[in-house]
Amino acid sequence: SAYPIDTLRAELPALDWITEPHRVENLSRDFAWYSPVLERTLAGKHGDIAVRPRSEDEIRAVVGACARLAIPITLRGTGTGNYGQCTPLHGGLILDMSAYNAFLWARPGVGRAQAGIRLAAFDDAARPLGWELRWLPSTFRSATLGGLFGGGFGGAGSLRYGPLAAPGNILAVRAMTVEPEPQIIELRGPEALVMHHVYGTNGIVLELEVGLAPAHDWLEGVATFDDFDAALRFGADLGRAPGLVTKEVSFMAAPITDYFTKLGLPQGRHAVVFLAAEFCEETIAQMLAERGGTLSYRATAAEVAASRRTLLEYVWNHTTLHAFKVEKNLTYIQSAYNPSCYLEQVRTLAQRFAGEVQMHVEFLRTKEGEYSCSGLEIICTRDETRLAEIMQAYRDSGVVINNPHTCYVEEGKQNLKLNPQVLAMKQRFDPQGLLNPGKLKSWAPAQPLAQEPAHA
Ligand code: FAD
Repeated sequence: SAYPIDTLRAELPALDWITEPHRVENLSRDFAWYSPVLERTLAGKHGDIAVRPRSEDEIRAVVGACARLAIPITLRGTGTGNYGQCTPLHGGLILDMSAYNAFLWARPGVGRAQAGIRLAAFDDAARPLGWELRWLPSTFRSATLGGLFGGGFGGAGSLRYGPLAAPGNILAVRAMTVEPEPQIIELRGPEALVMHHVYGTNGIVLELEVGLAPAHDWLEGVATFDDFDAALRFGADLGRAPGLVTKEVSFMAAPITDYFTKLGLPQGRHAVVFLAAEFCEETIAQMLAERGGTLSYRATAAEVAASRRTLLEYVWNHTTLHAFKVEKNLTYIQSAYNPSCYLEQVRTLAQRFAGEVQMHVEFLRTKEGEYSCSGLEIICTRDETRLAEIMQAYRDSGVVINNPHTCYVEEGKQNLKLNPQVLAMKQRFDPQGLLNPGKLKSWAPAQPLAQEPAHA
């Protein structure tokens, strides 16, 4: 290694260190293999050592030592990200936050926990009090709250509450600076959001305070249709029906639900996957009858709890994961449709790329509260040239691409327009540029890091 890793470990012998190369390599990886581009560019990149602190004191000790020894730090929740966000480009320490995971409290509409808490564990603690998280990525069983904040967008629940970045969702973060004597600072409101979706490059998040949603018993269903358009319109109308309490509505064109081999669904149908409060079932059945759809799968909250099978693990980017189990020569894109014409855009692009793009969209509210949908389209090739052409055609037709084929902050969701506050926050929290170096391209460190060509 180019860094004094042995000194670091010798200074703090009581910490939970992970040194076996194969374990450190595993802790350097996420689900970037979804992308042919990232699979190629991140091959061989890994940390030199990992540590799993259990307390704020342990985090402070290791972070202070890294600052003194100029060792890069890449934060990790549980590595379910999709863009190599937790893969170090320059080696160094993997700071695994998953053991720093206490649920702290919930009051009406608000809750707080340590960053390494798994989302499912948060909900298990909050639900008896009548509350639950406002957004669940389909990886909720293992993904952490800090990882969702650092690298995620939203998920089931964004239909009602929008993405994490919508005002009122993230109320505060408690964060640590990377300095020889680390400081701990509470950031509230818009200031807290400056650390959101920047891949752990501008601060170490210790705790999050988040808005909560009322908990319901959720009915899970798959409605299927012969007709693409009837299914798409049903999904759109179900998700925005003001009298219904829905948590999740997604549209999947045929043959996507054929990949869901364990659900026993009829083959070759266009589908709407939904979670709605159980008391909405009668109204949904009426809507479905009017539109010629069939309820092809149904599970009550009690059945979901007993079976541990939930449709939450069939939506968002789990849809793509099920496709991969059947067909390897695939990848995907992430798109944001225009609220003023999303249905037309979905129809037009589905027709234009028939046979090449399998249409999957998630209905949601945008940061500004507009109703729309965002796509996680399955692309039936891993050819990088064709992939780039398809993404360009989407952009040309007015659909925003949140490029999942890059590991750089500026090229993903931020669409090249980096908020200057992100860099100011980096200067404040990480003046030496040790956090996940290389991911924030606009940051020019005063002292270049040790080069590690051995990993190239
Ligand atoms: P990691 O992957 O471990 O980390 C993510 C980023 O956050 C990294 O850059 C890391 O450095 C940083 N980070 C971690 N902890 C901290 C901390 N304490 N302080 C500062 N930075 C930190 N995402 C969605 O938003 N919605 C979805 O519906 C969704 N579905 C998915 C489905 C599948 C099948 C897969 C593979 C991924 C999906 N994702 C989704 C992406 C990902 O699972 C989520 O964003 C998840 O919440 C990330 O949590 P994690 O603990 O795995 O984070």
